[in-house]
Amino acid sequence: MATHLFSEIEYLKGVGKARGEKYRKLGINSPYELIYHIPRSYLDFRAYVPVAQAKLNEYNVLKLTVYRKMPPQRIRGGLVICKAAATDGMDDILIVVYNNVYGFHALKENETYYMYGKVSGNLLRKEISSPVYISASEKVLIQPVYPLTQGLSVNMVRANMRQALELMRDDPFETLPRAVMEKYDLCPLMAALENIHFPESEEASEAARRRLAFDELLKLQLGMSLMKSRSRRSTAYKMDDSISAAPFMEGLPFELTDDQKKAVDEIVADLCRDVPMNRLLQGDVGSGKTAVAAAACYFTAQNGLQSALMAPTEILASQHYRTLSEFLEPFGLKVCLLTGSLTPKKKAVIREQIISGEINVIVGTHAIIQKDVEYKALGLVITDEQHRFGVAQRAALAEKGDSPHKLVMSATPIPRTLALIIYGDLDISAITQLPKGRKPVQTYAVTGKLRHRAFGFVKARLDEGRQAYVVCPMIEDSESDLFAVKSYAENAAKGDLKGYSTALLHGKMRAAEKEKVMKQFRDGEIQVLICTTVVEVGVDVPNAAVMVIENAERFGLSQLHQLRGRVGRGQFESTCILITDNTSEDCVKRMKIMSSTADGFKISEEDLKMRGPGDFFGSAQHGLPPLKIADIACNMELMNKAQNCARELLEADPQLNAPENRALKMDVLRLFNKEIIG
Ligand code: ADP
Ligand code: MG
Repeated sequence: MATHLFSEIEYLKGVGKARGEKYRKLGINSPYELIYHIPRSYLDFRAYVPVAQAKLNEYNVLKLTVYRKMPPQRIRGGLVICKAAATDGMDDILIVVYNNVYGFHALKENETYYMYGKVSGNLLRKEISSPVYISASEKVLIQPVYPLTQGLSVNMVRANMRQALELMRDDPFETLPRAVMEKYDLCPLMAALENIHFPESEEASEAARRRLAFDELLKLQLGMSLMKSRSRRSTAYKMDDSISAAPFMEGLPFELTDDQKKAVDEIVADLCRDVPMNRLLQGDVGSGKTAVAAAACYFTAQNGLQSALMAPTEILASQHYRTLSEFLEPFGLKVCLLTGSLTPKKKAVIREQIISGEINVIVGTHAIIQKDVEYKALGLVITDEQHRFGVAQRAALAEKGDSPHKLVMSATPIPRTLALIIYGDLDISAITQLPKGRKPVQTYAVTGKLRHRAFGFVKARLDEGRQAYVVCPMIEDSESDLFAVKSYAENAAKGDLKGYSTALLHGKMRAAEKEKVMKQFRDGEIQVLICTTVVEVGVDVPNAAVMVIENAERFGLSQLHQLRGRVGRGQFESTCILITDNTSEDCVKRMKIMSSTADGFKISEEDLKMRGPGDFFGSAQHGLPPLKIADIACNMELMNKAQNCARELLEADPQLNAPENRALKMDVLRLFNKEIIG
């Protein structure tokens, strides 16, 4: 393998310390990483126009001969302007280059170039400013456009790219086994990389993109699968399949839905195997995941083992604590809540009870998996809303204790293909139906003009004894004109909600304060909760039957759906009123979708289509390596092929250690953090 390909980026000609730093800012440390700096789009220099037809104040491609370069002018602030007169044979135009003497010097008098840049001026005098250009003798007329950073010009990147590609061409390597390339009709890696940067034709660029997108999806699949197999070490907590979870289910005040029952069965079967369970329990808000989790805790306790449930926030942790206590205490199980806001004395007592095994189920924030908490026998770890924790934490959690069984709960419905990627290291149980008798939330989108009337409706429901949420995007007033909870609450108390009890809830409040407000709301002492999106996660107050969302345009589909899930949790008809004055196409569409469906999976599918996987794939959310080329929403078919291919490869060679797979494995390790896969 070409050694210089992986040396420092400064190895390339023309890359000194300064330019090297700029490349590093883009995450490019070596010529190899530069090669994977994929063009955002292409410039087609074949489509040039005469100067006379150039559109003013727009970007145009022109074919120009430079006939006189003028000396650079230095103006205030160290700015340097270079100018040159040029012609297309019919008309003249002035080339103006700002602050790029180096680029200007490269232009030669009496040479002809294709140039792309913004044309301004009037019909008589035109200029093209800071154009991107190539020599008219250049054969490749489709040129890449890169995501750039200040001080790195397209021409610099192109020159460096050519050299990096040459380094690789000296000693090209292939990451895919020949059989895979043949079966899935993929071009060789070297050809793909050359054509993604300097395509000979549209077809060549298409084939290159397909090959590289396939690579990405395949590597993602393989990486996730390797992680999954790593966490499949044996567990010390194989449970007894002669024990039954039935008494728990029979003791519930309601009958589990079929999906819930199936999930419980799948979980119990996993718990009875000698490899740790690694399962995702996916279901819309209110679909009854907590009841399923409780069944798992019950079964674990019957096996003499402890369970821990970890939630991302204190509000959610105490919510789970109450629910699990209600479900489990009737069976004589002991549940405790362990969060950061307990007094040291109380914490010490609880820790004692955890070590002694007196407590069966421990609920809390991530504090419960810290070193200072010792368990007697932790058999099951449940995490809620785990998509907020990400892949790396999941891997870390897998290392805790004697490989306990793990259940991940997520209320963010994700289209199945995406779930397979984000949660590729997990098995999946999905609850797709809501409990019987649950009525879908009626949703209306209105403009601010109807706010007063909307509150008339809210008050009528309050008078019937119901409670309401009002959600605003901001905490404090700002220049943005967006509603902020603080001033909103003040105004509402004097205006639309005069005479009703209201309270504030937002993320900047102290945990104890938030908890106090939540308790008052749950107890019905507060009628209207004016809040930010802190209520998004897991809050369960069945009597709350109305939600008003202000500046609804500010929220994405999935977020609106999560918010709306706070109502419609009891036997009451529930309503969600979305208020927005935004008339953009995008916003109107979102409001329409929200008003027409309550199906979380459908909504997330739409969300994916509208936002694109870029957002879904923000690596902050899940810790997966970002995709540069593949577009999951548009490449569904390729995605399926990559999944098939990954399966075939791993079936034949589970650790990818065969010689023909070694390059591919290296590539997977390069993409993922090595420690995760190990
Ligand atoms: P999730 O955690 O999925 O958002 P929960 O487990 O909190 O949902 O359930 C929401 C509400 O529905 C709870 O009050 C719960 O007691 C109730 N519930 C759960 N399963 C059923 C069922 N099968 N039938 C009726 N009510 C149910
Ligand atoms: Mg819940």
